[in-house]
Amino acid sequence: MPSDRRMFLSAGLGATAALASGLTTSAQAVSSEGRPLPGNLSHDLDARTAAADDFGRLVHKRPRGVLKPASSADIANLMRWVKGQGVKVAARGQGHSIYGRALVDDGIVVDMSAMNAIHDIGQDRIVVEAGATWKDLLEATLAQGLTPPVLTNYLGLSVGGTVAVGGIGATSSRHGMQTDNVIALDVVTGEGNEVSCSATKNPDLFDGVRAGLGQCGIVTRATLRLIHAPEHVRRFQLFYRDLPALAADQRRVLTEGRFDQLQGAILPDGRGGWRYQLDAAVFHASGATPDDKAVLSGLSDERSAAVITDLTYREDALAFGKFETLLRSKGQWSNPQPWLLSFLRGSNAERLAAGILAGLTGDAVGPFGRITFYPLLTKAFRTPLVRLPTEDIVFVFNLIRIPTSNDAAAAGRMAAENRTLYDRIREAGGVQYPVSAFAMSPGDWEVHFGSGWPQLREAKRRYDPEHLLAPGYNVF
Ligand SMILES: Cc1cc2nc3c(=O)[nH]c(=O)nc-3n(C[C@H](O)[C@H](O)[C@H](O)COP(=O)(O)OP(=O)(O)OC[C@H]3O[C@@H](n4cnc5c(N)ncnc54)[C@H](O)[C@@H]3O)c2cc1C
Repeated sequence: MPSDRRMFLSAGLGATAALASGLTTSAQAVSSEGRPLPGNLSHDLDARTAAADDFGRLVHKRPRGVLKPASSADIANLMRWVKGQGVKVAARGQGHSIYGRALVDDGIVVDMSAMNAIHDIGQDRIVVEAGATWKDLLEATLAQGLTPPVLTNYLGLSVGGTVAVGGIGATSSRHGMQTDNVIALDVVTGEGNEVSCSATKNPDLFDGVRAGLGQCGIVTRATLRLIHAPEHVRRFQLFYRDLPALAADQRRVLTEGRFDQLQGAILPDGRGGWRYQLDAAVFHASGATPDDKAVLSGLSDERSAAVITDLTYREDALAFGKFETLLRSKGQWSNPQPWLLSFLRGSNAERLAAGILAGLTGDAVGPFGRITFYPLLTKAFRTPLVRLPTEDIVFVFNLIRIPTSNDAAAAGRMAAENRTLYDRIREAGGVQYPVSAFAMSPGDWEVHFGSGWPQLREAKRRYDPEHLLAPGYNVF
């Protein structure tokens, strides 16, 4: 097997005139209320250009200024300054959104990357600033033998960026989303108030911020749950002749709790067809290597094709980095990325996925893309604004489209196709994971949030009544 292909298979895988003239980098500039503007607000063209695009490269919006806050007070100051002026504000973590969610036309981007300090690490929790990446957080906790229960496949995302959407990973059937493992948050609201929240303190804000698409506040600091980190990971990549065989074994190992991590994908086989892959792992301590025969017993995969790999927990968590390096070397990391991410009802997932697959060729995702497909147990998911079909088992169904060219028109057509597919998925009882590449109207979001909509609408009314925050989602 060519090494590129091997790496791919092993990668674990959505104003006013006064302000216009008043925004300066000078600390002496003052608002109409006499309040000084944050000294680190920049409207330098390079900074504004860098904040005008995201990973998806499908939407382009240039802000009029970029704030790089050093503290929560800097953000509160900005929010109080923009209040009453109709100037929108978008927090930016690592800018890995797909469809302009961290962008703002002619408003202010709050670049959180410098607010990345790691504070206390206790036996069961860590306190971090929201601009920290999951990679930096993991390195710090592993030094103490600890880990967050859920890691995203790619660790170059910020804590604030995944708290805004959910944060799903290979252990989510056991531990839910990253938002289910948040203990407390410090937030600057759209009104410019600095507020702490948790399940018992300002719970409406806590529930409005977790997976609330940045609509109620900018998270500045998070207290997150930690557990003991496994030492080793034995990874099993199993291949199947067709989708029903893959799904049957996925369901079986999920309900038996056979693996500590479970994912899977439908991959272009390079010959115009597809390969069906179950990707799972068992955690273990040194000297307690799992018995492969027992782990794989009764499964119907093409056993001679199975790939079994031993890694440290850290190596496994960072494996996506190799895939990133590969895509960068081929220039494909910086192409438009019109991804579609969704959850299907367990009761019709195979049928719906097969129907969608019948209309797609490998070109729909590109040689390094994939269709992520695996089941989840929903009982571990408790964040009110994380939307999943209301069944015990749902399937992740993601079109990870990695085009081979930077053809904007072709990527635009894929985003349009995403919308058509989303309508079909929604019609069949599915929901999107809200990082997908296609346009959503406020009415679409109301449908998306369903029974959670009144709660989000009320939190928005209370904490960002002027609708200043996170305009890139077009929720309100
Ligand atoms: C290569 C890649 C792999 C991915 N893998 C996974 C995965 O395994 N699991 C998963 O769940 N997702 C995954 N995602 C999606 C990712 O979690 C989301 O797109 C996430 O929002 C990006 O985080 P970010 O730090 O880049 O945020 P940004 O793109 O900078 O911002 C995203 C949104 O969050 C808001 N936001 C950012 N920071 C804050 C803050 N401090 N307070 C309030 N709002 C804030 C922004 O305003 C914006 O609306 C992946 C994305 C990519 C590109």
